[in-house]
Amino acid sequence: MSKKTEDIASLYDQYVMPTYAPAIALVHGTGSKVVDIDNIQYYDLTSGIATLACGHCHPEVTAAIEAQVKTLPHASNLYYNTNMVILAQSLARLSGGYKSFFTNSGAEANENMVKIARLWGRATGRYEVITFNKGFHGRTLAMCAATAQEKIQAGFDPLPTGFAYADFNDLESVKAAISEKTVAIMVEPIQGEGGVIEATNEFLQGLADLCKEKNLLLLMDEIQTGMGRTGTMFAWEQTPVKPDMFTLAKALGGGLPLGAVLARPDLADLLKPGMLGTTFGGNPCACAAGQAVINVIEKEGLLAHAKKIGDQLREGLEALMDTYPQILEVRGRGLLVGMVVEGSAKEIVDECRLGGVLCCTAGEHVVRFLPPLNISEKNLGEALEMIGESLDTLFND
Ligand SMILES: *Cc1c(COP(=O)(O)O)cnc(C)c1O
Repeated sequence: MSKKTEDIASLYDQYVMPTYAPAIALVHGTGSKVVDIDNIQYYDLTSGIATLACGHCHPEVTAAIEAQVKTLPHASNLYYNTNMVILAQSLARLSGGYKSFFTNSGAEANENMVKIARLWGRATGRYEVITFNKGFHGRTLAMCAATAQEKIQAGFDPLPTGFAYADFNDLESVKAAISEKTVAIMVEPIQGEGGVIEATNEFLQGLADLCKEKNLLLLMDEIQTGMGRTGTMFAWEQTPVKPDMFTLAKALGGGLPLGAVLARPDLADLLKPGMLGTTFGGNPCACAAGQAVINVIEKEGLLAHAKKIGDQLREGLEALMDTYPQILEVRGRGLLVGMVVEGSAKEIVDECRLGGVLCCTAGEHVVRFLPPLNISEKNLGEALEMIGESLDTLFND
């Protein structure tokens, strides 16, 4: 660790709660490249954990934020906010007429989606939401309860009630989890944190059929998969089903904190003023950034690009399997890609960082790649070469 990084690390240790274990300090970024405090450059194949769909400092996103922050940084939800309604109008166009409620984060969006589901279920006395083992829905107390992972829940009991768990891609386990209290099923189209595991179309169709049969709501958490990451604006567009409600966050705010619940209008209209609230949700700077992100995705053809470059990423990683039997599988869709390895994923992430590429883990044995949607073929090719060199250092030296 350099002197400069050591200085930051020591301040962090002294004053920040030890919730993460960073290794470098990032200072600036452009597109798919970032630079750290020691002026070392990296390819950022995490894009700020999937928040920067258009890369670092896309000029249009930056200009939108800059213009708004100089004009009216915050308005509160007591007053109309033009940027919020424009973004909601765009999301309605993209989702086929769904209405939006904006939040600050993904966990907060999921919380509010569950609240709306419970509101809908009141008439029939139902409130329980089925979620999936290895899923991830955020870190608030209720979303810890919704996240069926021991490592997320341990130490925080008693957790809020109202969730039941089933196995992902296992329809029978969902049937077994349904009771007279069940109001909804909440699922990620691709489990991101859980290891980049895709829901099969048969499974999703089965869930939709079950929801119809038992009068349940189908809720999707698209916080990681949304905003073009899988090659369509929302991942459900590539499946045979459409959720009754879904959530967005991560890439929605172009790097600023912004989440949203999108709901069918009849569900949205169960709400009355005062029932849901948030101080910062729908902040005008974040919404300006969000609209700019949508504009860039559409103008620059980033959905098609994400599909194409996603193939390059998967094929590039698959090619490494010939040399490294430690790589067991490459999976995912678009630019949400997981490389399953025999040993420690973290060890590979650390070696790649030393070699100039940032990626992250998704569980113990999966290295996760989430590059910006607009990374060029040339830059991704270079990053793949660097990953190959890091694997060579790790496994052959
Ligand atoms: C990141 C994530 C969340 C939590 O979002 P926060 O903004 O960290 O609260 C929830 N669900 C999924 C699928 C995510 O990837």
